[in-house]
Amino acid sequence: MTPKQTPKVRRWPGVLAAYREWLPVNEDTPPLSLGEGHTPLIRSDRLSDATGAEVYLKLEGANPTGSFKDRGMVLAVAKAAEAGSRAVVCASTGNTSASAAAYAARAGLRCVIVLPHGYVAAGKLAQARIHGAEMVALEGNFDDALRLVRRLAQELPVTLVNSVNPLRLQGQQTAAFEVCDALGRAPDKLCIPVGNAGNISAYWMGFSAYAEAGIVPNRPQMYGFEAAGAAALVAGHPIDHPETFATAIRIGHPASGHLALAAAQASGGGIRAVTDEEIAAAYRLLAGEGVFAEPGSAASVAGLLQLHRQGRVASGETVVCVLTGNGLKDPDSAMRLASGEMTVLPAVERDLQRWLEGVL
Ligand SMILES: *Cc1c(COP(=O)(O)O)cnc(C)c1O
Repeated sequence: MTPKQTPKVRRWPGVLAAYREWLPVNEDTPPLSLGEGHTPLIRSDRLSDATGAEVYLKLEGANPTGSFKDRGMVLAVAKAAEAGSRAVVCASTGNTSASAAAYAARAGLRCVIVLPHGYVAAGKLAQARIHGAEMVALEGNFDDALRLVRRLAQELPVTLVNSVNPLRLQGQQTAAFEVCDALGRAPDKLCIPVGNAGNISAYWMGFSAYAEAGIVPNRPQMYGFEAAGAAALVAGHPIDHPETFATAIRIGHPASGHLALAAAQASGGGIRAVTDEEIAAAYRLLAGEGVFAEPGSAASVAGLLQLHRQGRVASGETVVCVLTGNGLKDPDSAMRLASGEMTVLPAVERDLQRWLEGVL
């Protein structure tokens, strides 16, 4: 018997190498990678049935540190190393710090992280700590932290790697490239969570670059979703005390808000708000289909369902919901929102059998 031929899989080189001609990399840029990018785009049967559209989920939680932040961080840290910087610094609701810590460790740079005390999910804290970042928790929110590190980065010999660093958005464009590469065109709608408003802006840049180069014939309507308790762009003014259990988007002064609004307008989409209840329902709906995304990510799906209820989703159109981060980042939310109890039994077959008969 001849053994079955295994399919030849080419090694994925990471986004800097894969999308080299689209990014500001040259011979002097270190070939930094943790294997970021090339994330799955899977069809959601439940959401397709519920909306009548063809709904796909872009699983950005499959990136090396569990969120899309890796796409921009790999470029920002590589360019910091190229420029001879010794340290990177960021404010973070969690995922930026996890990503910065990992890529700084990979590149041999130091990493300094400023967090809002008490509002960072456990998994994200654990990541930054194990990668050896210098961490400080401020008695304030993310917006306070970003304001302070922006000022300090101007005076100290460190590179700021928040998404106000334009390299972050350039790297994050690669997710839009991948969506187009996978579908052969751009989707009709893109649904995406909005926190600091960098990622929606990066996707729009990416879709626009591909369309201008003639690689795809179309660009999607861009729909961004803020948490209702932190919906500065929807309200039209900053929110000084943002509140939502979706901590990744608990941001009241979105730094790239102007870009996000421009993208929504130019594309015929919009920026909308979804409540924590809508986010929680979407989070559980996704989990019921086998997809574990963190609460902030579920805002994209909550938003799609809201658009559908308002009659704004056309039958058969193609929609991509971006699931920005991995559910494992925030185990506390999962434990809180999971239904059912966990039973404890003695190690006795009869007891276990009776319990099983009860649940089956
Ligand atoms: C950072 C982040 C967001 C928000 O992205 P912005 O670029 O700040 O709008 C959403 N979801 C997750 C999981 C994130 O880590």
